[in-house]
Amino acid sequence: MEDPREPHVLILPFPAQGHTKPMLCLAKLLASAGVRVTFLSTHHNRCSPSSSPSPLLRFVSISDGLPDDHPRSLELIGEFLLSIKTAMKARLREFLLSESAEPPLTCVIADGIMSIGIDVAEELGVLAISFRTFSACCLWTFFCVPTFIHEGKLPFPDDDLDKEFHGLPGAEGLLRRRDLPSMCRSQIESNPYRYFLDETTTMTRASALILNTFDTLEGPMLSRLTTIFANVYAIGPLHALAAESDIGHSSGRTAFVGSLRIEDRSCMTWLDSQASRSVVYVSFGSLAKITIDQLMELRHGLVDGGRPFLWVLREDAILGENEETVKSLLSELKVPSERRCVVNWAPQEEVLAHPAVGGFLSHGGWNSTLESIAAGIPMICWPHTGDQQINSRWVSEVWKIGLDMKDTCDRSTVETMVRTLMEDKNEEIMKSMARISALSSASVVSEGSSSKNLGRLIENLRKIGR
Ligand code: UDP
Repeated sequence: MEDPREPHVLILPFPAQGHTKPMLCLAKLLASAGVRVTFLSTHHNRCSPSSSPSPLLRFVSISDGLPDDHPRSLELIGEFLLSIKTAMKARLREFLLSESAEPPLTCVIADGIMSIGIDVAEELGVLAISFRTFSACCLWTFFCVPTFIHEGKLPFPDDDLDKEFHGLPGAEGLLRRRDLPSMCRSQIESNPYRYFLDETTTMTRASALILNTFDTLEGPMLSRLTTIFANVYAIGPLHALAAESDIGHSSGRTAFVGSLRIEDRSCMTWLDSQASRSVVYVSFGSLAKITIDQLMELRHGLVDGGRPFLWVLREDAILGENEETVKSLLSELKVPSERRCVVNWAPQEEVLAHPAVGGFLSHGGWNSTLESIAAGIPMICWPHTGDQQINSRWVSEVWKIGLDMKDTCDRSTVETMVRTLMEDKNEEIMKSMARISALSSASVVSEGSSSKNLGRLIENLRKIGR
């Protein structure tokens, strides 16, 4: 007979790379601490590890309700979100009602934009915890957006984005309009953004909040969030916490890192041939798309920046162009292959930890930002959407660990930023990055704040039982 109070947690990520990875790290950490975990993804975004890192960790998947050939891209996100709210929710309920796992479910940890998990937890009478996979500064901003709308501060026109923005508690004097999450521009009344605002409100029905951040990085913003949630667990950087606990790692290489795409490891051999701290790593995450003009500006800027570069160009990364066109454009790069390497998808954590890498040109996605911090690699941020606008402001103006290229993508800016970051003009950035990276490492050791917060979460999961 199972102990009736043994915890059994369902983890429900939003079906996308940036959400799956940190939630998977959490799943592994909970299982290694003796908590039974069911990790539920969609068929389309299935996590299929060759073997589970723990007998307590089970992987299942259900349909998201869309046909197999649906692109599930940012351009069609409205359809995707609608299907999650309706078809996927019905399937989730069906799955959980037919579920006969022992011990029974005691808690649902739902992604902060998967409130279907909170709805179903409430129906089943089990505890719901919300895990928002982006920064505390962005989440706090999201909570303030309804007030800004009420006060008539939002939406603002897209043509005066340099105007200072006042009113975000804890960020006075810091923000311009362009630094707010991209939804605050004129699109605020469009459906996807309404969805994200509604999801933020629904999160408050959860009994606690989990964030992939750490106390010494975002303390002031975390304090503000404790005015909304009685329990806030800052347990990041989760990839570093999982590595520290040696879960799913073998021979120094992550055995199961939660990458939903196939990594091209040839770039690691290329990196081995490069001088220490010489390479610019370029990646805009799993979803962002760029235009062909932006591709060309980046290409020229990187070449003119004079440093070798490793560029992740996903086959689906260029708007309206097919893979062949992009390949042929890149083959025209007037730099020898010793100075450049282009791959579809890289083992990013390992790339950032490689001694040849000296800078990261990133979209400022939250996982990428945390991975850069953990590896101590300064950044150039070129934010695209969502939380990236606000993350990049914090990167450049609060933490001072990088440069913000926001809303600009011309070759001379790229060149200047690469030179500024990679040549010896960046002492302040290097110092700040070294300090913050050390704080990040300190947070994941056994007595560190994130380890302790995770311990608190586990203790509470055990107490709740059924
Ligand atoms: N990533 C990777 N290989 C790549 C590019 C990205 O493994 O070539 C991973 C990266 O390590 C990070 C995630 O994809 O964990 C991207 O998440 P992020 O929050 O930075 O951006 P998003 O994809 O959500 O926009």
